[in-house]
Amino acid sequence: MHFPFCNGKCDYCSFYSVVPSNSLVDSYTDALLNEIAKCSKEFDGKKFDTVFIGGGTPSLISDSNAEKIFSALFSHFDISENAEFTTEANPESLTDGYLSTFVKYGGNRLSLGVQSLCDKECLAVGRRTDKEKVFSAIELAKMHGIKNISCDLILGLPDQTIESLFYSIDTLLDQDIKHLSLYSLKIDKGTPLYTKKDILSFPDDDAEFELYHSAVIHLASRGLKRYEISNFALPDFESKHNLKYWNQDEYLGLGPAAHSFMNGRRFYNESDLKKYVGGSCRVYDNDGDIEANSVEERLMLSLRTQKGFPVCDFPKHSVHSVSLLHKQLISHGLAENNGEYVILTDSGLWVMNEIILRFIELI
Ligand code: SF4
Repeated sequence: MHFPFCNGKCDYCSFYSVVPSNSLVDSYTDALLNEIAKCSKEFDGKKFDTVFIGGGTPSLISDSNAEKIFSALFSHFDISENAEFTTEANPESLTDGYLSTFVKYGGNRLSLGVQSLCDKECLAVGRRTDKEKVFSAIELAKMHGIKNISCDLILGLPDQTIESLFYSIDTLLDQDIKHLSLYSLKIDKGTPLYTKKDILSFPDDDAEFELYHSAVIHLASRGLKRYEISNFALPDFESKHNLKYWNQDEYLGLGPAAHSFMNGRRFYNESDLKKYVGGSCRVYDNDGDIEANSVEERLMLSLRTQKGFPVCDFPKHSVHSVSLLHKQLISHGLAENNGEYVILTDSGLWVMNEIILRFIELI
């Protein structure tokens, strides 16, 4: 479920979010309740074992709206009792009231947008949080009995060094964080960061790979295994919800800009709050270039993961050329020497898109 509101815009953000006003959030909540009721009929009989409230900034949901939304979700959908139920939050807006309602409905996982614990790095990209607020948010979540806490960090921030990255990682892990996501900073056109990119000093591609590679090794030494290109977890703390995307399981997205994969079809709600509030804004992916569940799609999703892509799933006519490419990747240190699966190494993951294109040309 997507809550598309943020109190301001981080300089790098190209996600769909707007600044909230009471009336807009109330209209959104009404539209969301309608969508929940409608989708529960449309997908009657489906069972759900994960719930993910993402944003935007879900920690801005008022207590009364959180009560309405969670109550509707759990009364309309068949959600298993021990479901993984995650909320995203920004440290500065997480409140006791929101967490109380979240936990009352079975909330058991927090995904906190930290990005960096170095004030200078945060300021450079317009983040409005600091270390003290991060610690307070983690403390608050623990007080509510939430043990499964994940934090997001960004790689490639201005003037970021291996030391500053390790400082953020270690300080968080010392707070008993079970899961970390490390995302590369993207400088998209149209964002404030794009306009000031020339006056900031970003690590170049080689330096950023060095940050990533060092982090992978460091996280492993602290017991967090990479299970997807950007995601690391202690044993049994992998995100069950996010694994669904990469394993091509079904998921239903609610709210503007939310994506779904149900009954073999991919569809999404347009990134347009006005349209969403006015009624349906669902668009079916027209199967574009890549069909749902095709070899190409499965390759794109599974090469991101540590499990990799099973060699036997390549079409028969491509076996010979695929096997040659696989051997080349292994000899260049881009894939692990594993006959049954194509599993990319750190270096391979770094050039994953090119590798995927090379495979797609052969199948
Ligand atoms: S908190 Fe997240 S969604 Fe909101 S502006 Fe920042 S990056 Fe974008």
